[in-house]
Amino acid sequence: MVTIGVLALQGDVAEHVRALEKSGARTLLVRRDSELARVDGLVIPGGESTTMSQLLTSFGLFDPLGARIASGMPVYGTCAGMIVLASSVLDGRDDQRCLGALDMVVRRNAFGRQVDSYEEDLEVCGLGGAPFRAVFIRAPWVESVGAGVTVIARAGNRPDGPIVAVRRGNVMATSFHPEVGGDERIHELFVGMVEGH
Ligand code: GLN
Repeated sequence: MVTIGVLALQGDVAEHVRALEKSGARTLLVRRDSELARVDGLVIPGGESTTMSQLLTSFGLFDPLGARIASGMPVYGTCAGMIVLASSVLDGRDDQRCLGALDMVVRRNAFGRQVDSYEEDLEVCGLGGAPFRAVFIRAPWVESVGAGVTVIARAGNRPDGPIVAVRRGNVMATSFHPEVGGDERIHELFVGMVEGH
């Protein structure tokens, strides 16, 4: 059984732990380098990307995490986690750092304020079965992607809709929160990525 870490500095950690365990993985909360060294893959949860960026730096995790991702460790970021994986952020804070694990520009809070949070049924490439009920909470969207980054879902399922899910090899990110809806297919997809690595 693979061990998947959940970055546990801030955000909705417990929901990812539950979804990953239901999907057949062992989990480990990651707050320090020694824990990062023990996992086969990592989830970066939703929360607040500016705070997560600060905490990654103050916990000394920013560079070790970048190095693990560069060496091929599978990683999945949701919402704030998507922002942390980006190569650049629009509407972020000036001191906000991101890992550059995916060549993409992300716009923070792109769908509006907390009251503009919403849900919709999304067609996600690579997921079999029915559309995925996606929950967007003060979510970012992806403004543009570089070569090699595959768009796997767009808001409204429209060809010109905002990009809300992407993947490049072992790195995946979604604007929405699959850990809250009770549908584990995206976590199962990620567990499969880690098992296949
Ligand atoms: N708006 C948050 C941020 O900028 C992300 C929200 C979320 O993760 N649900 O980090």
